[in-house]
Amino acid sequence: MTGENLFGKSLDELQKILAEAGMETYRANQVFTWLYDKHILDFNKMTNLSKAHRDALAARYRLRVPAIVSEQVSSDGTRKYLLALEDGLKVEAVYIPSERESAGEPKRRTICVSTQVGCPLDCAFCATAAMKLKRNLTAGEILGQWTALQKHVGQRITNLVFMGMGEPLLNLDNVLRAMEILTHDTTTGIGGRHITVSTAGIPHEIQRLADAGVNVKLAVSLHSLDDAVRSQLMPINRKYNLAALIPSMEYYYRKTKKRVTFEYVLFDNLNDSERDAARLVKLTRQIPGKVNIIPFHKIDHTSNKTRTMNLAPSTPERFEAFIARLRSDNVTVMVRNSSGVDIDAACGQLAIRSSLRHIDNHGIVA
Ligand code: SAH
Repeated sequence: MTGENLFGKSLDELQKILAEAGMETYRANQVFTWLYDKHILDFNKMTNLSKAHRDALAARYRLRVPAIVSEQVSSDGTRKYLLALEDGLKVEAVYIPSERESAGEPKRRTICVSTQVGCPLDCAFCATAAMKLKRNLTAGEILGQWTALQKHVGQRITNLVFMGMGEPLLNLDNVLRAMEILTHDTTTGIGGRHITVSTAGIPHEIQRLADAGVNVKLAVSLHSLDDAVRSQLMPINRKYNLAALIPSMEYYYRKTKKRVTFEYVLFDNLNDSERDAARLVKLTRQIPGKVNIIPFHKIDHTSNKTRTMNLAPSTPERFEAFIARLRSDNVTVMVRNSSGVDIDAACGQLAIRSSLRHIDNHGIVA
């Protein structure tokens, strides 16, 4: 297969492309469901197209999704995948089956996808930061992680989180295109309520996501409600501080009526005081939301910054006290379990080992 990659094209785009090849409009709908519902990546298997049409498409176009290079399986069932893109760069995606079926709720099978190769944001605690940004993923590469993993694991994936490598809101056009295809009623049919976009906080893009009408859940990596502390942890806060970020989250809630998730990694003696908890309580009064407490996963390839900041996970006592304080004020608190910690698949641990080793050895990015 040579020619332009058709995987990642929207229905509108397929209609134009197929029309140019002399095919009727409804043929595009057929190709659309083959690709994104049935996960068929071979024109020859699209059996409701004529042989002549299949040959014509195969002669002109190719169908490619990221290729699974390796799989690591955690003792808790989480699986981490290394995926190769066509230009040889690699990203990671994680498959997280829910531990058990809760009463009346079907079992959830979530995948966590990357949106960029590396990340430009340089958060002090995050493994991906060390890679810097190599490039944005295309819509096809974002959606292709879903397809590659879906084909591989077999059982139906039910939920999607944009919490892998990269900052989704710095690649929002492609993220929106991928979501538009995924949520289309002739493909997977998964609804916005099964999709979560996690952001370090880019206010105008949070507004754009709200206005896009995709109705997904928004999670914001907050980690502190003190500008000085947050700027140390997350340099993006110097550009968009809390005074800019908070109104955008409020806008998101008003526009979508969806409760915002405030993600909060607890660092010992940095953001885990009584005062910090009180600030979070106040925020949840202003913006209906829930707090997602994430244990800090110490990353072994710590940056200079992590070392100088001496970041450490909160002690169990401070961790429990922080949560108890929030709950005593009726804040909804979820404590994120550490799925896949043993295979470095937990939040913030995604980084390509080979390139990190390269950074460690030579001080440059491969
Ligand atoms: N750029 C997006 C999504 C990727 S990170 C964002 O910032 O939200 C997904 C989540 O993992 C974020 O909440 C992030 O702050 C958190 N995270 C990153 N490194 C971590 C670490 N070492 N331990 C625990 N959580 C981490």
